Amino acid sequence: MTVGGLDSLLEDCTQCGLCREVCIVERLGAHSITSFLLGEDNYSSWLCSSCWRCQEVCPQGVDIHAIMVEKRREEDPPVAHEANLRRVLESGYALPIGKGINELRAIHGLDAVQLVPEKWVEILLRAQAGQELGG
Ligand code: SF4
Ligand code: SF4
Repeated sequence: MTVGGLDSLLEDCTQCGLCREVCIVERLGAHSITSFLLGEDNYSSWLCSSCWRCQEVCPQGVDIHAIMVEKRREEDPPVAHEANLRRVLESGYALPIGKGINELRAIHGLDAVQLVPEKWVEILLRAQAGQELGG
């Protein structure tokens, strides 16, 4: 949690709506953190392309990124995000690295992708579980 928390981050927001006007997620018909800023309940802080157009247009200099991080602490991530996290923990990559990737790389003269060493995976899993590292 940032110093002062969500309330202090929201202090300067005048609910002008400019952030929502430029938001790509909103233009596609879904509802992002910008809807939360306008006081709506039907939104997901995980729906975002990280374009930061919202941040650029905000006349009040509201730290929308920090607000998004705070809200993500409260909201469960979508299933696809959880799958990506699991893959990062297992292999070091967010996207699946199958046999086909290395065959394609070989055609283009590139080295095979190396998966992370097992020991590193173990360290990450233990850190995620809040266990002591080392030893
Ligand atoms: S542009 Fe800034 S002030 Fe306007 S609603 Fe969005 S966060 Fe609030
Ligand atoms: S950073 Fe996210 S919330 Fe902001 S305008 Fe881009 S898609 Fe919308």
